[in-house]
Amino acid sequence: MGKKVLVLGEMRDGALRNVSFEALAAGRTIANDGEVVGVLIGETVASQGQELIAYGADRVVVVEDEKLKHYSSDGFAQAFLAVVEAEGPEGIVFGHTALGKDLSPRIAGKLGSGLISDVTSLEGEGDDVVFVRPIYSGKAFEKKMVKEGIVFATIRPNNIAPLEKDASRSGKVITLSAEIKDLRTIIKDVVRKATEGVDLSEAKVVIAGGRGVKSEDGFKPLQELADVLGGAVGASRGACDAEYCDYSLQIGQTGKVVTPDLYIACGISGAIQHLAGMSNSKVIVAINKDPEANIFKVADYGIVGDLFEVIPLLTEEFKKL
Ligand code: FAD
Repeated sequence: MGKKVLVLGEMRDGALRNVSFEALAAGRTIANDGEVVGVLIGETVASQGQELIAYGADRVVVVEDEKLKHYSSDGFAQAFLAVVEAEGPEGIVFGHTALGKDLSPRIAGKLGSGLISDVTSLEGEGDDVVFVRPIYSGKAFEKKMVKEGIVFATIRPNNIAPLEKDASRSGKVITLSAEIKDLRTIIKDVVRKATEGVDLSEAKVVIAGGRGVKSEDGFKPLQELADVLGGAVGASRGACDAEYCDYSLQIGQTGKVVTPDLYIACGISGAIQHLAGMSNSKVIVAINKDPEANIFKVADYGIVGDLFEVIPLLTEEFKKL
């Protein structure tokens, strides 16, 4: 039997994040022949409704309020719960992003539902859908099914392929008026650190540097390679602790989790806490001087050598392609 599934469209800098389209694909699998309803929350977000429809939403519900200009768990929870009340969904999907990780437990708590977080793939569809998620820092996978209540899942970015965009799809974009009241925290402004280039958590290629990079300047060849490959630069905590780069680049158990198509680890030993953030990458290349480094155990391709010699050679070769 088909289900009605709500999928949150997550915005960043005025545009929908890719994970929103991946969440729509997951929503479609859960809904089976039911209905996928996109949800947009913000100050002025309705203009993105058609984009959600092009990627698979049957229609879109928008909640707009000046109090929702910046994300707050309180404000977004009120808005999302108003949509739940109006729509009565049987399924909900968010991206497993900082926002999704913050908002989903609050919504699940209010609804008294379960929550399957950090899903990397779905098997089957409709009532028989099985959610696959990594456990023990990615060392094993568990499979879960929901037998009763709302099917609520967050999906890890870069793991579930979005449906093909079809700009000719049509569907309604309706606005729901919801009163956002008594916010405990009012976010006045968000000042972002200036970051350039590709978003690390959604990047298809990640060039990550560790303590072996040796200095802030040591990251420059990594950035050059990332630019040539259209990727993003990441780091181990070792590199962040040594102040070679900002903590926003940290990948691992206490940093970001990434699943790019290609992960190149440069001067990273491969501690378990680092592997927790990258071991599910599709292809892993490790560059390390030490042939015994643990990173080689998870690498598909290993290069034993000095990263300051190897990376410029790779960059030159990729430039020729
Ligand atoms: P190192 O272990 O010092 O390795 C440096 C590597 O560079 C070595 O293998 C060396 O052979 C190689 N090297 C040196 N020079 C060169 C060169 N010129 N060319 C090629 N190779 C070279 N770590 C994370 O990364 N992410 C986390 O989220 C994280 N969370 C943690 C949470 C907790 C609770 C704890 C206790 C630790 C956590 N850590 C985390 C830290 C983790 O245990 C390691 O200390 C850290 O990952 C080591 O970073 P590294 O590999 O860059 O440094």
